[in-house]
Amino acid sequence: MDRRVIVEKPRSHDCLLQGAIMLNKGLIASTLILFLLGSRAMADGNKQPFAGPIIDAHVHYSQTSWGEYPIRKVMEKFDKGGVEKALVSSTPDDGTLGLHRHSADRIIKFLRPYRTRSDMANWYGDKDVLEYVQARLAANDYSGFGEFHMYDPLAVTTPEMKILLELATKKGLILHSHSGADVIEALAKAAPGLTILWAHAGLSSPPVEIAEIFKKFPQVYADMSFRGGDVLDAKGIKADWLELFESYPERIMLGSDTYIPEQWSDYQGIIDRHRRWLGHLPLPLAEMIASGNALKMLKR
Ligand SMILES: [Zn+2]
Repeated sequence: MDRRVIVEKPRSHDCLLQGAIMLNKGLIASTLILFLLGSRAMADGNKQPFAGPIIDAHVHYSQTSWGEYPIRKVMEKFDKGGVEKALVSSTPDDGTLGLHRHSADRIIKFLRPYRTRSDMANWYGDKDVLEYVQARLAANDYSGFGEFHMYDPLAVTTPEMKILLELATKKGLILHSHSGADVIEALAKAAPGLTILWAHAGLSSPPVEIAEIFKKFPQVYADMSFRGGDVLDAKGIKADWLELFESYPERIMLGSDTYIPEQWSDYQGIIDRHRRWLGHLPLPLAEMIASGNALKMLKR
């Protein structure tokens, strides 16, 4: 649209001219907005999704998924998603053991303390759960304990928990905890020798709170399951998340949290969404979050 064409119109058409200029200004403004939006969309579009290998640090293969997603289908999903390894825990643990029997190189076993979902409520104060955990730990080698749910720091102090933390320390298990920052702090203080993987990075904890925990406790890592949607806005990576990633590049990893069959049916979508926000980071940082940090954590 060329403004000169309109201002050269005869004076007798002043009114028309005025209207045309206003219309023209409006068009210029909207063209400019469209151009800016277009270039932003193009800038986002040019950020190629991260294409490298992934370690999924938050997988469950629980009984409710076994029928619809037999082991072969799970492995196909990992293959398609470029997921080389997975940290797996399940309700009950047999799901994890089954996957591991099929693919020992790919599956890293974590022991979840739930025989059924009803154990979730009070597992840390339940003698039967303690027995189940002790028997499993005696029979198999695990890299971690969890994912477990804990919402009250006092839960860390039960007699059963004391035994569990001693066992975990003896075996060097990573604690995978779904909890708020207060419980992470209580766990880190109760078992200072243990590595902790903070599930969902606190689920709703803002980046500044995650950074505080990282600063206080160098043994704490976090997985980004259910957090991928928090990272981007229309302009790209949000400033507070970018600051977290850049300040603690070695502490964050990816996760899908396949706790129900619906998460398995959306598995490729979950991985693709992680790849999208990773694509906005410098490649070396994206590679650390995608796989390097999980490997390092496992070697601690
Ligand atoms: Zn969780």
